[in-house]
This record gives sequence, structure tokens and C-alpha cells, in this order.
Amino acid sequence: MLQPPPAEPGMREEEVDTPALLLDLDAFEANLDAMAALLAPTGVKLRAHAKTHKSPVIARLQMARGAVGQCVQKVAEAEALAWGGIPDILVSNQVVGSSKLARLAALASIAEVAVCADDAAQVGEIAAAAEAAGVRIRVLVEIDCGAARCGVAPGPEAVALAERIAASPHLRFGGLQSYHGSAQHKRSPGEREAAIGHAAEVTRRTVEQLRQRGLACEIVGGGGTGTFALEAASGVYTEIQAGSYAFMDADYARNDVPPPFRQSLFVLATVMSRSLPGVAVVDAGHKAVAIDSGLPLVQGRPGLRYAGASDEHGKLLVEDGAAPVLGEKLRLVPGHCDPTVDRYDWYVGVRRGRVECLWPVAARGGMH
Ligand code: PLP
Ligand code: MN
Repeated sequence: MLQPPPAEPGMREEEVDTPALLLDLDAFEANLDAMAALLAPTGVKLRAHAKTHKSPVIARLQMARGAVGQCVQKVAEAEALAWGGIPDILVSNQVVGSSKLARLAALASIAEVAVCADDAAQVGEIAAAAEAAGVRIRVLVEIDCGAARCGVAPGPEAVALAERIAASPHLRFGGLQSYHGSAQHKRSPGEREAAIGHAAEVTRRTVEQLRQRGLACEIVGGGGTGTFALEAASGVYTEIQAGSYAFMDADYARNDVPPPFRQSLFVLATVMSRSLPGVAVVDAGHKAVAIDSGLPLVQGRPGLRYAGASDEHGKLLVEDGAAPVLGEKLRLVPGHCDPTVDRYDWYVGVRRGRVECLWPVAARGGMH
């Protein structure tokens, strides 16, 4: 059930009810501008990943700064964006099952829709859904460029699948999906360079083999917040798929040489108990903030350490002299931004201490 917004425009930040998903608009806009400025000289386009923000409002702000479209991870996100007016959407993932494919095909009449495949049988299913809907769907071959998740082997296997796509009158071969997920959080720049060096090399070889068969790659997509500069400099990738850059999180901040973006996303929490010495408890446990990539940090309060999360309690350890008062509101920096956003119905946009806007997290929730 959609919850009412925890704030109204014009309120002071301390008046926002908690736990709330807070977006610091100055930092957020600076991140969008910074990514646009970093990619401009490379000629490589941004197709920002909407699995992070799940919001056509944020998608539009990214596209106003030059993003060519959006990536999504699932059909429900594609629906929220397409019906929200976003014209160009890539499902950077596999979609399996006739009902999901029928939903995807239905979107192809209101937006440019593309999807990935890594299996010949799956290509047949996508073609059948496109035929039934009377549309043509763009399909990218996903290759495994090193992360060992989805994707066919680069080289001949990828070429064979691309030929199958190109042979279908209901599909259009759109290029390669080549995302190296496990490289994003490798801590040292050297490890990230080695991983993306390999990814770019196998991708380059596959693009060349496709070209020899007369198959051009309109899109060669990949790259996240941890490595996008490497993909952008490779000369192979045409689109970058970073998502977290808009918000950042404590896990990305732990990379040696963290990505050049500011923390803009916070969970606002209230101190609700101080009954033990050296301890304070906030109303944001792991139902309010994702802890799969580590516990949150307390912004701007070095004497407070978030040390344990239960369902609805966050336990802070308090250094001498750093005690918060009961009822005080604290900004938590999530360990992982994407699943944290998915826990909320509303972004509360704040600027210099005042609530400026409320944006729905339109594609939140469990629907695939
Ligand atoms: N592209 C794909 C296919 C992904 O799965 C992800 C994240 O897992 C991203 C891009 C974006 O990554 P990030 O949010 O770390 O920038
Ligand atoms: Mn993530």
C-alpha cells in the first residue's frame, strides 16, 4: 500500500517524519552534471541505470543532461518509465516467461524498447512475443566479459546468437551488452583496470567478428559507477550504464580512489532511545536501510557509529561527548543505495535544510 509522503514542501528537514528517503538536491544535481561533463569529451553516451532510482522524474533529469535513454533490470521498471514518458529503454538483463515478454512487447508501441538475450531458445520466445504484439524488438547479445553471471561466451558463440536475432523478421540485432559487475567494487584501481581491460578486449574482438559477418553494433553497453571511465576510454563501448553515481553509497566510498561523486542520498532517522550509557537507538533498522553491502554511516557525526541493525532498530555506539538528544534527526549514509531506495514510496528532496519536492519511487516493489 502506498504510504502518504513523510513531508510537505517548505518544511524544515528536522520536521520530516522518519524513517525517510532524503535526497540532497544540490549534491544530486552536482552528480548529474559531473557525469555529463566527464563523458562529454569521450563521445560515449550515458544510458543511466534506473534500477537505482526507479523514477521517471530522475530519468528525465538525466536525459535533460544528455543521457540517451535508460537501462532497467526488469519489466516492471520498464513499464514505470515508459508510461512515465521515457522514450528509450534497454532491459539490460534477460526476460524469461511469456507473460513478462507480452508486457515488454506491449511497451514497444509507446517507446523504443530493447532487451538482452544469452540463449537461442530465448530469442525465439522474444520473437514470438514481438510477432503477437505486431512490433519489432531490438535485442542485444549479452556476453560474459568476466563477471560470470549472465551472457554467452564472447566470440563465435555471441556471433551465432546475433545471426539468429538478425534472421528474425520480428527482431532487430541491436549490439552487445557487456557489463562487468564484479569489477565495480574491486577496491584498488589496478584491479579495476585489469578487469575492464579484459572486458574491453573480448568485447572488441566480438564487435570485429560481428562486423566481418555484416552485423553492426549500434549499442555496445556496459560500465557502472566504479569503472565507467575505463569503459568510456576503451574506444569500444558506446554507452555507459552507471546508476549509483547519482546517489552514491558507503560501499562505493570505500573503493580506494572512490568515484568522483557526492553522497546525495540519505535515510533520515530519529533518535528514539538513549537508555544505555554509550548507546543511542534510531528508528532505522534493516527494514529502512539496506545492509547487504555493509552498515550505514552517520553523516557528519564522527562520534556516532552505527553498529547493529535489527528489523526496526539501529544501534549507535556513542563516543564521550557525542551523544545525540532524544528526538534528534540524523542523516544515515546507506551501505548500498539501490535496495535502500526500493524500501520507500517517496523521495524527499531537500535543499539547504528545506523540503523542496516529493517524488514517487514509481517502480518500487517486488514485481518483476
Ligand atoms: N548495468 C548493469 C547491467 C548492472 O547490473 C548494474 C548494476 O548492477 C549497472 C549497470 C549499474 O551499476 P552501478 O549502480 O554500480 O553504477
Ligand atoms: Mn548496486
